[in-house]
Amino acid sequence: MKNFYRKKLSELKRQNLYRDFRKLENSDGTRASFEGRKILLFCTNDYLGLSRHPRVVKAAQKALGRYGVGAGAARLISGTTKAHTSLEKKLARIKGKESALVFAAGFLANLGILTAFAGEHDVIIMDKLCHASLVDGARLSRAELRVFPHKNYKKCEKLLRQYPGQQKILVTESVFSMDGDLADLKKLVWLKRKYGAVLVVDDAHGTGVLGAKGRGATEGFSKGIDMVMGTLSKAIGGLGGFVAADRGLIDYLTNFARPFIFATALPPVLCVAAEEALRVIEKENRLRKKLWENIAKVHEGLTRLGFSMADPESAILPVIIGDEKKALDASKRLLDRGIFIPAVRFPTVPKGKARLRVTVSAAHSSQDIKKLIRAFKALSRAGI
Ligand code: PMP
Repeated sequence: MKNFYRKKLSELKRQNLYRDFRKLENSDGTRASFEGRKILLFCTNDYLGLSRHPRVVKAAQKALGRYGVGAGAARLISGTTKAHTSLEKKLARIKGKESALVFAAGFLANLGILTAFAGEHDVIIMDKLCHASLVDGARLSRAELRVFPHKNYKKCEKLLRQYPGQQKILVTESVFSMDGDLADLKKLVWLKRKYGAVLVVDDAHGTGVLGAKGRGATEGFSKGIDMVMGTLSKAIGGLGGFVAADRGLIDYLTNFARPFIFATALPPVLCVAAEEALRVIEKENRLRKKLWENIAKVHEGLTRLGFSMADPESAILPVIIGDEKKALDASKRLLDRGIFIPAVRFPTVPKGKARLRVTVSAAHSSQDIKKLIRAFKALSRAGI
C-alpha cells in the first residue's frame, strides 16, 4: 500500500501538482500571520467579510448558548430545529421559490440534487467548467453525462436536441468558481423551456454578491430555474449548502436526497449565523458597494501592470499563468511580499491553465489593495 500512495504522491510532485497546507494563525478573514509574519489573504470566498461581522458573530454566540455546537443527528431523526426551518424560509424568499432545504455543505447539496433527481434513463447536460460536486453528483446518479464547451450554448442546444422524450437536466454554475465569469442565464432559461429540460443553477459565488438586492445571479430568473442551489460558505460567511425550489420538489429531495437523509444536520448555530448574515446583506447595501469598488480597484491595478484579465463580473479575478511550476513560483513570490494566493492547478483547472485566483472582499482596505498591486508589480518585473 505504501508503494501505491508514495508513487502517486511523487508523481504529483514531479508534475508540480502536489498540494499541502500553509498554516495560518490569527486569521481574521483578510489578515493572518504565517511563520511569524503578517500576511494579507486575497484567496478566500468571504466576499463581504461576513464571517467576522459583529452582528453575525453576536447572533452565533447567542445561539451557541441555546443550541450547543452540534445538531445531534440527521435532520429527519432529531436534527431539525427552528433555526433550520427559519433559515429555509428566508432562503426560499430570497431565491424567489416556495421552499428551500439546507444541507450540511454545498458539496452535499449538489450530490443530493443530482443523485435524487437523475437516474440511469436520464441525461445530464453540463457546462465543462462546472464544479467537482456537480460532476460527482452527475457520475453518482448513473445518468448519461454530456458536457458542452464552456458557455458554448450552440453546442448545448445540439445536445438538448439529441434526447427527445428523455428527462434532460441542464446544469450550470451562475458564476464560474475558477474563472469568475457569468453563465448566460437568460439563454439557459430559454433553452430549458424550448427543450423541456430541468434547469439546475449553482449560485454558490453569486449569492450575496450579485443582483440588485444581493440575492444572487439568479435574482430575477427564479421562475425559469427549477432548482437554485447555493452555499452558506462563501459570501454568507459560514458553512452549509441549500437548494430552493417548488414545495413539491423540496418535499421530494427531503425524501430522496441521500446526502441530506444520511448526514448529520448542519449545526443550528450555523443556521442562525447564516440567517443573520442574510439580514445584513439585505440591510447593508454599502458592503456590496464596497466590494464592487474593491473589485474595480484590483482589476484596474492589475491590468495597468499588464496582466491580461477579462472585465470583472464577480469577486473572482483569475490571473492565468499557465505553467504549473511558474504559478507555484509566482505564488511563493507573492507570499514573500506578504500576499497569500495559492496557485490553483489541475484538477481544479485544466492542465496548463494554472492560475492565481485573486478573490476580493469588502473587508479589504485601500491599503491592502495597494500592497497587493505592489506585490504583483514585483511579479511582473520578474517576468511573470
Ligand atoms: N459549488 C461551487 C461552484 C463551489 O465553488 C463550491 C465550493 N468550492 C461548492 C459548490 C461546494 O460548496 P461548499 O464549500 O459549501 O461545500
